[in-house]
Amino acid sequence: MDAQNNIILSVQGLKVHFPLTKGIAKKQIGYVRAVENISFDVERGKTVGIVGESGCGKTTTGKAILRMVKATEGSIYLNGQNLLTMTPREHDQIKRKVQMIFQDPYGSLDPRQKASSIIREILREDGAHHTAKELDDEALRLLTMVGLSEEIGERYPHEMSGGQRQRVGIARALACNPELIICDEPVSALDVSIQAQIINLLTRLQKELGLTYLFIAHDLAVVRHIADTVYVMYLGQFVEKMSSDEMFSSPLHPYTKALLSAIPVVDCEVEKTRKRIELSGEVPSPINCPSGCPFHPRCPYATDICREKMPDREVAFGDHEVACHHYKELLPVKQP
Ligand code: SF4
Repeated sequence: MDAQNNIILSVQGLKVHFPLTKGIAKKQIGYVRAVENISFDVERGKTVGIVGESGCGKTTTGKAILRMVKATEGSIYLNGQNLLTMTPREHDQIKRKVQMIFQDPYGSLDPRQKASSIIREILREDGAHHTAKELDDEALRLLTMVGLSEEIGERYPHEMSGGQRQRVGIARALACNPELIICDEPVSALDVSIQAQIINLLTRLQKELGLTYLFIAHDLAVVRHIADTVYVMYLGQFVEKMSSDEMFSSPLHPYTKALLSAIPVVDCEVEKTRKRIELSGEVPSPINCPSGCPFHPRCPYATDICREKMPDREVAFGDHEVACHHYKELLPVKQP
């Protein structure tokens, strides 16, 4: 099957604007432009990463796909069906196909239920008739699949470690037999050693079950280990798209370079000599987005055209795309 026919999720021209209101009368005085005209495809069995600083719109993108927030414009196709034009009844029938793994597994699990009970409840909601024994067996199978024992299945969330809770969150997502899993910062609340275990688990499950992931994170090093393709997001827009290897070997956009500069390098000699791009100032407010290139107030390479005109995202080479007026002049393109 060619890549085009193998697209499971296609997001086209997605905008999410939240109205900004004032006073008791809730008079609308503007918008928060959380997501601003983004398009991307996710191929079946692959992982697409979205990276960016906190507040860049990546989590809102995930929530729009799940219809947890209302899209202002655009289309979101799952297996060719537009999720945004479906009736609530139609959406109910397919929503189990897209699941989310949350950053804070503790907050997303019912504290009054044991792990096995949480899984059984999700299994029971699939509409088919299950005997109690079938539910018990399937819950145990899923818990085992994510590396948890029957004994841990009898614990409440507060009796588990962070890593164990995240494994329960993954088992709960798998209980819906999903085609796409949106992983929203799934390891950022965990210790580094546990992060690696969860990433390895997600990678193994993807291979075994043919899962497709949309992986949202602020940590580029984590995304590198799991994503095939990465989109860098800034103020609700994609500024660069590339393979995860190219993100490290030949980043083009100054913002991607700045994010990479912030990752510590273990080798002291490399750390001493490498060139850093320091980001000045804070991310501007999505209520008052800067004119032209949204990155220009913080970009060390900004010129007049950057302040006036939004750069188009263009192909630099292969599948590598970048939205920057000056990437050719300022940033030597190193072919991978
Ligand atoms: Fe910097 Fe200009 Fe490129 Fe924007 S378009 S990233 S301001 S050089």
